[in-house]
Amino acid sequence: MSDPLKNQFDLAILGAGPGGLSAAARAAQRGMSHVLLEAADKHANTVQQYQRRKHVMAEPSLLPLRSDIAFAAGRREGILEEWQEGIRRGNINVRYRAEAVRITGGRGAFQIALKGGDVIHAKNIILAPSKTPSDSPSTTASSS
Ligand SMILES: Cc1cc2nc3c(=O)[nH]c(=O)nc-3n(C[C@H](O)[C@H](O)[C@H](O)COP(=O)(O)OP(=O)(O)OC[C@H]3O[C@@H](n4cnc5c(N)ncnc54)[C@H](O)[C@@H]3O)c2cc1C
Repeated sequence: MSDPLKNQFDLAILGAGPGGLSAAARAAQRGMSHVLLEAADKHANTVQQYQRRKHVMAEPSLLPLRSDIAFAAGRREGILEEWQEGIRRGNINVRYRAEAVRITGGRGAFQIALKGGDVIHAKNIILAPSKTPSDSPSTTASSS
């Protein structure tokens, strides 16, 4: 059974790719209680699967961001290291091997069930798993 206090956040972000990382860095900068949930055992699992030395993050050429994690174009290896350093330096609260399988509740009180049985409680959520709806965690959350 999960500990409700330990698992209670103002913001939960699903997926530690560049989208989720950027959102989490911004939340950390603003001092929000947050958790970045990542299904894999490393950040940015899509980019981790790219071929070695691939040039990434080249498009779009203009990306107006509000978080201080670096998103300049570069080689896959350098970018992944930079993001890892950004997680450490920015005090991003990332939880690996935390695959969200079901989201219930609504604004102010979401519940995110993780594979393995733990439940995360969050007032707000950001979905950044970059998947088609059929692959995404099931949601019965209300939009109100
Ligand atoms: C083969 C390939 C090549 C590409 N090449 C380029 C390129 O050269 N340049 C470029 O700019 N873009 C490229 N893209 C697109 C680029 O990968 C995406 O734009 C970028 O990774 C999207 O970032 P994201 O944060 O939205 O999602 P992703 O990077 O896909 O990150 C999503 C994260 O969410 C996690 N996740 C998924 N489901 C769950 C869940 N239920 N619970 C918790 N975590 C979950 C995943 O493990 C992953 O780490 C390419 C994509 C592919 C597939």
